[in-house]
Amino acid sequence: FLEKPQGLRIGNDRVETSKLLDVIDPSFDTQAAQVSLGTAANIDDAVSAARAALSGPWGTMTAHDRGQLLWKLADAIEDRKQIFGELDAIDNGKPMHVARDVDAVYSARHFRYFAGWPSKIEGRTIPVSSPDKMNFTKVEPVGVCGLITPWNYPTLMVAWKLAPALAAGNTIVLKPAEQTPLSALYLADLALEVGFPPGVLNVVPGFGSDAGAALAGHAGVDKVGFTGSTETGRRIVEGSVGNLKKVSLELGGKAANILFADADLDKAIAGSFWALFGNNGQSCTAGARLFVHRSIKEQVVERLAEMANALSVGPGMDASPHDLGPVISRPQMDKVLGYIEAGRAEGAEVVAGGAQRGEDGYFVAPTVMQSVTDDMTIAREEIFGPVLCILDFDDENEVIARANDTDFGLAAGGWTQDLARALRLADKLQAGTLWLNTWGDTDAASPFGGMKQSGYGREMGAEAISLYSQTKSIWLG
Ligand code: NAD
Repeated sequence: FLEKPQGLRIGNDRVETSKLLDVIDPSFDTQAAQVSLGTAANIDDAVSAARAALSGPWGTMTAHDRGQLLWKLADAIEDRKQIFGELDAIDNGKPMHVARDVDAVYSARHFRYFAGWPSKIEGRTIPVSSPDKMNFTKVEPVGVCGLITPWNYPTLMVAWKLAPALAAGNTIVLKPAEQTPLSALYLADLALEVGFPPGVLNVVPGFGSDAGAALAGHAGVDKVGFTGSTETGRRIVEGSVGNLKKVSLELGGKAANILFADADLDKAIAGSFWALFGNNGQSCTAGARLFVHRSIKEQVVERLAEMANALSVGPGMDASPHDLGPVISRPQMDKVLGYIEAGRAEGAEVVAGGAQRGEDGYFVAPTVMQSVTDDMTIAREEIFGPVLCILDFDDENEVIARANDTDFGLAAGGWTQDLARALRLADKLQAGTLWLNTWGDTDAASPFGGMKQSGYGREMGAEAISLYSQTKSIWLG
């Protein structure tokens, strides 16, 4: 798969373009592969293929058969989880065992959950007040969906969107992140292999400003599902106005994680550690602002710093598995190191890490910073790297207000053994997902999405089917 440049996947074809996109292995700062670079013209062709498939066999396929195909795709992903693991480890840098046993396995599960949905998407008969009329609804696909995904979970973020969109009967043009196109291209091959009609899933890697913008603005696209930064989300909405296509957005976050003095400390410290360092801090739900009650701060900081220093960090494909890999790219590494410097300059103290690690690849030492205050740049902006910011607090009401004092609203949570307090947090924290005495759990059956500037629409669960469907109301006289 990596030996020769991979073409775009459009319909049944592998389309080679004149320009190639270099796929960089962030563990070594070397070119690992090349793929064809898709542009606006290729997006046009992919949209046409998707439109044709919608009125072809896919459009008339029974719900049962659609579900069967999704189930087969889930099986194929699980069978080839080693390949998915390697592809994601190569272009994203994450440890291969994580990419294989977590990302690929969760992706397969996601398809399996949504494989059950097509036969359960039902309309209603509505008891209207006219005595001689009947009213009923049909739930139909939106049409051609443009899916634009980020690099942090290359396979999983595609699965989150693709599975419900296909379950609801749509056809797809997928533009994966330019840094991580490999597993998306491979997935398109598997879809054809298990029997999806050509054109149902088209994959066009390319740059956001070119292929991505063309997809978001395309008059032949009925809906865009986007995951990425809040800044790009705004551009997607601007791009959508021409044909008023539907848009759903999963954007950035700056989650508050509150550690109360009455928490089960062992569980809370371990949970809070991985809330940030999981996926090397490159998660939209990372517990990036850790509020620790002043009475326990010293011991918590000490233990978190010890844990950070003990992490094994190394190349994604190393024979001896590591806890963390590199960050995604040189610009991202420079950005993360810049944030650490800004934190230092504004008065925060580095208690672990704080610098680049090694010279090959884009490695940042797992970093813990204490004495962070609400107004610091590192407490307000999304760092998206292995930097845990610790803030102190004294009082529950105070910390809830501070936790909510952000434009983001993707995730939040806290640790306490006081049930009443946990329920107050459930009421008052403003975020689409709350984790109480746990962190990071997601499930294909449970809705996920943002409040405030973290986006709109809910992926997963029944909500995701609504996101990729539209209701038609029919009157019969
Ligand atoms: P990004 O916004 O730079 O890129 C995301 C995708 O958008 C890529 O495919 C990119 O090519 C494309 N893109 C860029 N500019 C575009 C444009 N003008 N028009 C159309 N498409 C364009 O984000 P990123 O750096 O790849 O990912 C990190 C961000 O994603 C973080 O902010 C993170 O919080 C967010 N994220 C959110 C979730 C979530 O579920 N809410 C999940 C993962 C990541």
